[in-house]
Amino acid sequence: MSEFIKTLCPYCGVGCGLEVSPPAQQGKATHRDSQGNPIWRVRGDKAHPSSQGMVCVKGATIAESLDKNRLHYPMVRDSLDREFRRVSWDEAFDTIVNRLQTVRFTQGPEAICMYGSGQFQTEDYYTAQKLMKGCLGSNNFDANSRLCMSSAVAGYIQSFGSDGPPCCYEDLELTDCAFLIGTNTAECHPIVFNRLEKYHRKNRKVKMIVVDPRHTPTAEAADLHLAIRPGTDIDLLNGIAHLLMRWGHIDTMFIEDCTSNFSAYAEVIRHYPPEVVARQCGISIENLETAARYWGESQRVLSLWSMGVNQSSEGTAKVRTIINLHLMTGQIGKPGSGPFSLTGQPNAMGGREAGGLAHLLPGYRLVKNDQHRAEVEDVWKIKRGQISANPGLTAWDMITGLENGSVGLLWIAATNPAVSMPDLERTKKALLRSPFTIYQDAYYPTETAAYAHVLLPAAQWGEKTGVMTNSERTVTLCQAFRQPPREAKADWEIFAEVGRRLGFVKEFSFANSAEVYAEFTQLTRGRPCDMTGISHEQLKTQGPTQWPHPKDEGDKGDQGAKLLPHPPHLPHSKRLYTDLRFHTPDGRARFGAYYSKGLAEPPDPDYPFVLTNGRLYGHWHTQTRTGRIEKIRSMHPQPFIEIHPRDAAQLGISENQLVEVRSRRGQANFPAKVTKAIAPGTVFVPMHWGALWADNAEANALTHPESCPDSLQPELKACAVQLIPV
Ligand code: SF4
Repeated sequence: MSEFIKTLCPYCGVGCGLEVSPPAQQGKATHRDSQGNPIWRVRGDKAHPSSQGMVCVKGATIAESLDKNRLHYPMVRDSLDREFRRVSWDEAFDTIVNRLQTVRFTQGPEAICMYGSGQFQTEDYYTAQKLMKGCLGSNNFDANSRLCMSSAVAGYIQSFGSDGPPCCYEDLELTDCAFLIGTNTAECHPIVFNRLEKYHRKNRKVKMIVVDPRHTPTAEAADLHLAIRPGTDIDLLNGIAHLLMRWGHIDTMFIEDCTSNFSAYAEVIRHYPPEVVARQCGISIENLETAARYWGESQRVLSLWSMGVNQSSEGTAKVRTIINLHLMTGQIGKPGSGPFSLTGQPNAMGGREAGGLAHLLPGYRLVKNDQHRAEVEDVWKIKRGQISANPGLTAWDMITGLENGSVGLLWIAATNPAVSMPDLERTKKALLRSPFTIYQDAYYPTETAAYAHVLLPAAQWGEKTGVMTNSERTVTLCQAFRQPPREAKADWEIFAEVGRRLGFVKEFSFANSAEVYAEFTQLTRGRPCDMTGISHEQLKTQGPTQWPHPKDEGDKGDQGAKLLPHPPHLPHSKRLYTDLRFHTPDGRARFGAYYSKGLAEPPDPDYPFVLTNGRLYGHWHTQTRTGRIEKIRSMHPQPFIEIHPRDAAQLGISENQLVEVRSRRGQANFPAKVTKAIAPGTVFVPMHWGALWADNAEANALTHPESCPDSLQPELKACAVQLIPV
């Protein structure tokens, strides 16, 4: 066996390949953590096509989190004011199954909810769908991807007829113009940014435009930074479209042959002349024109976006408005161009493939579609009509369901909603009302564990073998290289055992995760995300593989890419829509016509500042892992609030002074960081600090749950606040 075991970084959606070697093979130089545990050695996998050996600090230090604060045994308590007592798995399973049956028969299956995670491997996701949607008859499975990527999902489906990012990372190194909007790629997707920045530095004709209210490290590298007012993205995008139309930079043939609804869109963008747009966005007309010129004069334009676009009450409209620009200029289906959502979590893409949101079924199918439900029921060998035709409760619906008593059982796995949900006081009060909460996680304590009746210890990265798909549709096998500690089990094994104890013995007779994956890929046959040619064995012997990859297909790469001289160091990646046929009934991509609505909660005299929030380079989400890694803690020792010097002077706030931030829902305190990186009238706080890591510095104490009507994704990115120096 090779000294190194191949796996994938379990943090962000870039999906960097890693190689891991055991402590025993490091000889005298074996590293140990502060508790004396030997640390596994991690390095980038040079053979991984997505990352080519690169890793950021999170990937490089991941092994240090393996043995710290792990949950080792199932634990149960009768009520939240009691202590947990350790129980056997048998007793824990009996408790859960009894409760599931009771709730199912007294309140109905729709009273059962599961809230999962983009940290799941695809096998975990898939088994959870089969248990919830197939066997229990409840579509109430939602994942934290609802807070992350659901606007991108809705946007792709509405514009192209199917989910699925059309681009690949190779496009970063083939584009003439990179348009980054609502993404601090340098900190949140560092290896994608490394590839783009290196290429941009070497090719001075290549343009980089960054749209962000903050002057981030990403904006620092740009040729043009548009620091628009929060909530004016659609104004800007329609304003660019207006100029492209005025200057004739549109692809008339593509619009006529490959799209629909252009006239409605053209009518909307008529109302976005540069004078109006520049004023609305708070930028100069000159900069707006420069952005439109860069776009219009480029042969190949690549758009990148993430949470700054998705986490919005008009998130789907924003995604579609980005896609509109690509459709009107024919910038799709060819190398170096297209709309490219950067996924937040390592396997949110796999979750979408496996149907891991309340309105989805495996294989990019929809709960509402009769034929889709029948196809899934046939593969699951359950009776027709067993899967409900009603989309289930989303993440926030589960909170309101706890408030109104319609949720009888909540099962949370691999996520920490007591920090990450909006309107945290309300969320916590709702969690306190839960009649029965199962919390399944690798770590203890976490903020959410305080709201659980049952704790189930989960295996994590390196302790279970399974598959993850990254932002460019590359599927990688994450191989186990150590045993789970004490009694921890893989998430899919826990779901399967509960299924068997509920009487679905044949349905959950998987011997291992390879069998789970094999059944899942059957459900992708003939679908846009066809993975029937992918198996654990194939991934192990041939390495990471992009979908679509139907059975018997060799790794041909993308035909479009071969039209251009191909850099020898790049793999031939696969793009979607190279034949310019889309998954809509008429094969045409649809323009979406949207006027800007702005923020759900704009600033006003009582709450005059817009609060925005985001990630820092080193930390991940709610610090469940990264908060336990010394190197990362020392990089980011404390939370802070960025305030523009003009605002700070007006309020009498000095550097490091504590600032009380109040919204209509709650308050939190942060030391001030006075900086011109943030625009006047806007403030920024990092999202990582929950109650375990700092006293009263939770960003989500302030945010609100107003959501996009199409994606049902909450507007976590912006709310109105007031600032009071303490
Ligand atoms: Fe992991 Fe993302 Fe960093 Fe790559 S860029 S090492 S996937 S956190």
